[in-house]
Amino acid sequence: MGCRQVLAKRALVRIVRTEEGPRVDPTGKAAGRGAYLHALRSCWEKGLKGPLAYALKTELTEPDREFLRMFMARLPDEADEADLAEVKPDQEGAERPM
Ligand SMILES: [Zn+2]
Repeated sequence: MGCRQVLAKRALVRIVRTEEGPRVDPTGKAAGRGAYLHALRSCWEKGLKGPLAYALKTELTEPDREFLRMFMARLPDEADEADLAEVKPDQEGAERPM
């Protein structure tokens, strides 16, 4: 969204529009209009300036922005992009070698 960086799909965070406002959707399957942002702070800063509200077809209230900024604050910035691109498939639930 408004970003031409190509990153692994797992490096995307889905945001879904709910009646309570935009929420982060870790499953990627929640019902509702969704939008994707890279898990990078710089992308969220850009998204919050307009493209995110446009993609969700909603207005972001000040509490909505506050909520999204709190999530954004935990994301890595551009410097870690290389690491994000190499995120491996989720191993949870898989058998691990002894
Ligand atoms: Zn991006």
